[in-house]
Amino acid sequence: MSTELKYRKATIIGAARSGVAAAKLLKRKGMNVFLSDSTSEEKIGSTFINEIKNNEIAYELGCHSSRVYDADVMVVSPGVPQTSEVIQTALKKGIDVVSEIEVASWFCKGKVIAITGTNGKTTTTTLIGEMFKDAGYKTFACGNIGIAFSDIVDQTDEKSIIVLETSSFQLDNIKTFRPFISILLNITPDHLDRYESFDKYIESKMRIAENQDKTDYFVFNYDDELVKNSTRMNPNVQQSAFSLNPAVKNSVTTGAYLDNLDLVYFYYMGEENIIDTQNLIIKGQHNVYNAMASVISAKIFGIEKDYIKKTLENFKGVEHRLEYVRTLEGVKYYNDSKATNVNSVWYALKGFNEPLVLILGGKDKGNDYSQIEKEVKQHVKHIVAIGESKQKVYDYFNKILPVTMAGSMEDAVSKSALNAAPGEVVLLSPACASFDMFDNYEHRGAEFKRIVNSLK
Ligand code: ADP
Repeated sequence: MSTELKYRKATIIGAARSGVAAAKLLKRKGMNVFLSDSTSEEKIGSTFINEIKNNEIAYELGCHSSRVYDADVMVVSPGVPQTSEVIQTALKKGIDVVSEIEVASWFCKGKVIAITGTNGKTTTTTLIGEMFKDAGYKTFACGNIGIAFSDIVDQTDEKSIIVLETSSFQLDNIKTFRPFISILLNITPDHLDRYESFDKYIESKMRIAENQDKTDYFVFNYDDELVKNSTRMNPNVQQSAFSLNPAVKNSVTTGAYLDNLDLVYFYYMGEENIIDTQNLIIKGQHNVYNAMASVISAKIFGIEKDYIKKTLENFKGVEHRLEYVRTLEGVKYYNDSKATNVNSVWYALKGFNEPLVLILGGKDKGNDYSQIEKEVKQHVKHIVAIGESKQKVYDYFNKILPVTMAGSMEDAVSKSALNAAPGEVVLLSPACASFDMFDNYEHRGAEFKRIVNSLK
């Protein structure tokens, strides 16, 4: 695509992973690039600063000066809110505002499989990446998952598969971004601190398919009413859907469903039983959905069942997502630090038959705990509340079951251990962001595991 040719000068807002990657890419392509971040050098950290310097990228830190508007395109990082002054001013001045995946897509030679949804993106991106790798494709798993799309795009060729974890923030500023397969896993309230309304958040997720046409595929969750009934569904694209219910076959010509415990792929010529879901290592109904979305993607490329099955049987999941840590005195410990919203906790709770001691709380993003009240009553015997929002957790759940407050992760783990009996499970599934106590959810999960592993 030739969009890039009309631009000469680019400003990149945000000096973290995707911003630095976009700046390097556009510089390689001969554009005049300027990188600006309003945070300080210390906060950004030496890794990115060194990368900026080593690549001789012009930059400023600590503020956005008027120089940022001396550009014909502005690339915004996912961490920069759409409402921020710098984006709004650029738009008023008539500067095109785009996201990093939009930029990378201009130079991509391979086929993109883009995955979005409130929950399950990283797991599904990783699983699809494994599936295509195992089937012999030159595969790149990138996006939010850790490697920026812009960093790998120059290595792609016509046969490459790019499996791209796509956040709603990246979708907010696409223009021509057009995946070959787009996958929408689910939509539930999240990031309401960043969007004007839930409706705006849904709108941004649905944009994943907006530039696709009849040669492309939109793979969606048929059990998610918000997705299925969305008026923003692109009517021009080939639709494929997955569901726990075989009735999905009446609505689309290709997709996947659950026949008792078997994951079945169906298409206009017939159907194929892919795997008994009891043989999946990754547990829970949510992971059945993730597996179905992955199977459909592989089948669109005609990958043989035996390859698909083997990958599914070997896939152990991703760290910090319902990750088994250890068993001590008959109590199993699980780390689900990545559960940063109420919906992922809902799925986590449903994944267990054992009574649970649940560690809940952190930086609250507007949680409505009534959404998990029923599942908490069913599965949880004790809550240990942590972080900035521990009082909110206490006030909501104290009337329903015992709640203990903890001042640190050490305290939370020891109070959980005290309250768990043999045959029960201690689960860290906080429903909140981690920034009140930790650098990020990985740090929170690593701390939890370290402390659990040191218990005697
Ligand atoms: P994301 O990248 O979208 O945040 P992850 O794969 O990292 O998703 O999983 C985040 C959390 O959501 C984990 O707690 C995980 O157990 C849960 N989860 C994973 N897949 C799904 C799904 N399809 N639906 C709901 N929750 C899910």
